[in-house]
Amino acid sequence: MSSAPRVLVIGAGAFGGWTALELVRRGAAVTLIDAWEPGHPRASSGGETRIIRTVYGSRAIYTRLAARALDLWRAHEARWPAGLLRATGGLWLFGPDAAFARASAAALAADGRAFEWLTPAEAARRYPAIDTSGISSLFFEPDAGYLFARRACQHVAARVAAEGGRVHMGAAVAAPLHVSSSGSMTRVALTSGATIDADAVVVACGPWLGTMCPDVMGDRIAPTRQEIYYFGTPMGDRRFDDDRMPVWIEMGERLMYGIPGNGGRGFKVADDTPGPRFDPTGGSRELTPDGVGTARRFLRRRFPALADAPLLGGEVCQYEATPDSHLIIDAHPGAPNVWIAGGGSGHGFKMGPAIGEIVASAVLGESQPDRTFALSRFDQASAELAQEKWQ
Ligand SMILES: Cc1cc2nc3c(=O)[nH]c(=O)nc-3n(C[C@H](O)[C@H](O)[C@H](O)COP(=O)(O)OP(=O)(O)OC[C@H]3O[C@@H](n4cnc5c(N)ncnc54)[C@H](O)[C@@H]3O)c2cc1C
Repeated sequence: MSSAPRVLVIGAGAFGGWTALELVRRGAAVTLIDAWEPGHPRASSGGETRIIRTVYGSRAIYTRLAARALDLWRAHEARWPAGLLRATGGLWLFGPDAAFARASAAALAADGRAFEWLTPAEAARRYPAIDTSGISSLFFEPDAGYLFARRACQHVAARVAAEGGRVHMGAAVAAPLHVSSSGSMTRVALTSGATIDADAVVVACGPWLGTMCPDVMGDRIAPTRQEIYYFGTPMGDRRFDDDRMPVWIEMGERLMYGIPGNGGRGFKVADDTPGPRFDPTGGSRELTPDGVGTARRFLRRRFPALADAPLLGGEVCQYEATPDSHLIIDAHPGAPNVWIAGGGSGHGFKMGPAIGEIVASAVLGESQPDRTFALSRFDQASAELAQEKWQ
């Protein structure tokens, strides 16, 4: 009989998928389950694309985590080319306050990472589709780019199966996961009536973490409704192609960001402002006129050639936001063989491969996750928790 530890990973999004793959590679007998499909439209990892960047202001822990993840994405692409990573560079545009840029520059310089300051005039020359009016400074990160999100989740789950894991579509019975009186969880029931036995369990249910573990997670994960839009670029206008335009993030009155290309889907624009609380299972995923209006007003100002661009489509996703926007990677306080991984808070996708390493090491008892991600931080006075993930 195999002595490999049996690990059940619940959730095949960016956190669970990469964790399962890393565990398989470290010799565990892994079962990865998901209630729907990897990267399905209601998952936080669903939809077309996500930005990858190492710029994180003074939050240097994420600069390092994202840098590690970027290395792993590149290594993965080199070994199994699936076209999941597009290296476009990343352009940050700042209004009057460039404190975030200065903090990012210090963190990047400390780690020997490349970046470049641009004046508005230089940026306008390099990217003629951008109107830099009202911008005080710009910051370019050559290593940034974007990832194909849904396709990556499908690809990672396929790798789990190809490398010896078991991938199964099925929903774990939620609310709450049953922890035995001996303080462990070795059997998980599925809604189908089946059960799965495991030595360790990873709960990576993204915005559903609050319903999976209400006793532990409660309001520590707040799903918020976020809309993103794809606009059509003018016929034959190559300025918006992803080999000529980088991913971009503007920190002005509100934080707007976008991705060119998206595999031909259109020019993506989104508002990072946290939306209203959202039910990831039953919430409406129709775009709102208000949201579309905000995106259009922004385009008119920053990308004038897209002022009247047709809306080609959109997606409604949800941030699974923690109060301080830090990730959660920790053991369940009532069951040391159960690990909770989530809280991506609108910035977790890119870090999937690095998160997989951290969670796999923790599950196998090889190392402990950084205390930044510990659940115990929520025991501190909530006033100490910063709200802003970009700071
Ligand atoms: C609009 C938007 C833009 C974003 N932009 C970026 C970005 O540019 N860069 C970036 O790095 N990050 C970004 N993020 C954040 C990132 O996408 C998320 O943090 C990350 O994808 C979360 O992954 P996850 O695995 O925790 O959750 P999910 O992807 O939601 O995965 C959880 C999985 O658990 C499954 N599940 C739930 N309950 C059960 C159950 N009972 N049984 C079995 N399975 C279950 C679900 O079906 C789901 O597939 C963005 C997010 C959104 C919504």
